[in-house]
Amino acid sequence: MKIARLALHWQILIALGLAVLAGTLSGPEGSLFGVRLVDVYAFLGTLFLNALKMLIVPLILSSIITGMASIGEGGALGRLGGKTLTYYLTTSFLAIVTGLFLVNLTQPGIVDGQPAKEALGLTAELDPALEEKVAGSGLGEMAEIFLRMVPPNIVAAAAEGQMLGLIFFGLLFGFFMTRLREPLKESLTRFWSGTFEVMMMITDWVMRFAPIGVFGLVAKVVATTGYSAIAPLAVFFFTVLAALAFHLFVNLSLLLRFVGGVSPLAMLRAMAPALLTAFSTSSSSATLPLTMECVEKNAGVSNRVTSFVLPLGATVNMDGTALYECVAAVFIAQAYGLELDLADQFLIVVTALLTSIGVAGIPAASLVAITIILAAMGLPAEGVALILAVDRLLDMCRTSVNVYSDASGAVIIARLEGERPLRAKLDA
Ligand code: ASP
Repeated sequence: MKIARLALHWQILIALGLAVLAGTLSGPEGSLFGVRLVDVYAFLGTLFLNALKMLIVPLILSSIITGMASIGEGGALGRLGGKTLTYYLTTSFLAIVTGLFLVNLTQPGIVDGQPAKEALGLTAELDPALEEKVAGSGLGEMAEIFLRMVPPNIVAAAAEGQMLGLIFFGLLFGFFMTRLREPLKESLTRFWSGTFEVMMMITDWVMRFAPIGVFGLVAKVVATTGYSAIAPLAVFFFTVLAALAFHLFVNLSLLLRFVGGVSPLAMLRAMAPALLTAFSTSSSSATLPLTMECVEKNAGVSNRVTSFVLPLGATVNMDGTALYECVAAVFIAQAYGLELDLADQFLIVVTALLTSIGVAGIPAASLVAITIILAAMGLPAEGVALILAVDRLLDMCRTSVNVYSDASGAVIIARLEGERPLRAKLDA
């Protein structure tokens, strides 16, 4: 069949177009032969999402353990870890600053020089004791993240999708595996690399169904959400979009070009299937199998680097999320008429950075983080309701940016480790 020969990202793009069409035509109530079409979309989407989620625990564990085993010996671990963390922090920070700059420029929470509170139907009053609530919020967040890193029960952590705990355990396991005596070390290493190979093969197979899954997921969103919700929040919506686009096409592209020595266009092409899947699933965790596949197969990064940078990145490095949290928090503060001075804005930057680390790679996870920021600023949690209407569409976009930043990180770090991803120029 011809269609099967079409590159996967084209198939997914066509599916996306068809999904928008089908969702718009059917609306929330449309049915065919007595079956509600939205239910059919939801079924297809959930089936695909489940298949992706099914891969996550064994894929991450085997990938981290094999990756760790290959870097655990010698001083490579500290070097790789240092570069990875530096990359995560730098890009998340750049993302937040981009968002902060744009939201201060467009001021979506101010309508005709007045806070948009009434226009947006907000009723709760401001807490008068703002300043006291602010103090100390950053440290609590940090402690929370460390606690999640060391789960009391590794099986429960895996079952609940507590990735941070799983990753930490995998890192320890891989590290100590390198210290085993010989016949044991050899057999365990083979077992885990065999498992990893199988998981990649299953991922490859599941990926072939991506167009169908994407169709279901997107058609459902379009049919149930529609576009009417965008109008009252248009300025906010487009501010987030513009900031995300700037981060992806300028910040990350410059880093790719000048630090990674690769063409940002080639990178986009290599990552297309993963980006489109992130867009339709709104979950960087669910997309992780595809992200790994694209970075290894299309961008040619070694397993040693991908297995360290990507699983950790999918949970910890969320540029799009950090940016979104920041823009949303400032927007809500503007709508309530709260003047934000430099210290307030700094608090938002720090809390957005920390919460984006703690946020899970699942749909709508940012909303929880935003309530934390609002609480830190003494704003009522009801503010979150304001952005609910457009959250889903923005979630799709910020998740793609989250995934793209992880992938770019893998490519850049691979380059710094002497590899030549995407055939990077040697003199770059
Ligand atoms: N959906 C996002 C992700 O999975 C998290 C969020 O910002 O809600 O990356």
